[in-house]
Amino acid sequence: MLITHDTRCALDAVVDLVNSAPEVSAAEGLPDVAALGGFVRQHNLSDVSRLSEDDLAAVRALRTGFTEVFAAPDASSAAALINELVAAAGTTPQLTDHDDFGWHVHYFAPGASVADHLAADGGMALAFFVVTGERERLRRCEAPDCRHAFVDLSRNRSRRYCDSRTCGNRLHVAAYRARRKEATAVTGATPTGSARGDQVPSEG
Ligand SMILES: [Zn+2]
Ligand SMILES: [Zn+2]
Repeated sequence: MLITHDTRCALDAVVDLVNSAPEVSAAEGLPDVAALGGFVRQHNLSDVSRLSEDDLAAVRALRTGFTEVFAAPDASSAAALINELVAAAGTTPQLTDHDDFGWHVHYFAPGASVADHLAADGGMALAFFVVTGERERLRRCEAPDCRHAFVDLSRNRSRRYCDSRTCGNRLHVAAYRARRKEATAVTGATPTGSARGDQVPSEG
């Protein structure tokens, strides 16, 4: 699956936005306009001008929309939700090579509000997964104490945990076990030691 850099960036913004919800993290991740400003800088959202309380409310509403896309039971409901979000934002697809980025498409209209910017580019990034039949890659972390959304970009769609601090270590351990199993299968050797005795890498 080929994911371009800009699609990847748009997805990261969607995932971080979904995970900023108080139902996901312990607290509201976007408590005020300043926090929204931090989010905009962190994700290098270009062309975003001054932010207001209205922007904050609109971005939180959009967050609910994206959250519903992740929870959509089938492709047609996901498609309907994405269509709604993107249509409400209005898009003007434009090729651009601003700053040091190569050619990529901006879907947001010039001068769009931050919520419309995120809805257009994030919505189109999510649309890609419906189009390619890869919607199951839009996941929730399986760790019992974690509800983080993430996008599984692994080759065999085997990722189960988000890459947050606590779950990231589980991820490393799972990857290590998978590699070990693979190596065992290749050499034909029988695994030595029990799971209990496995040497697993620590976080880092
Ligand atoms: Zn750009
Ligand atoms: Zn997690």
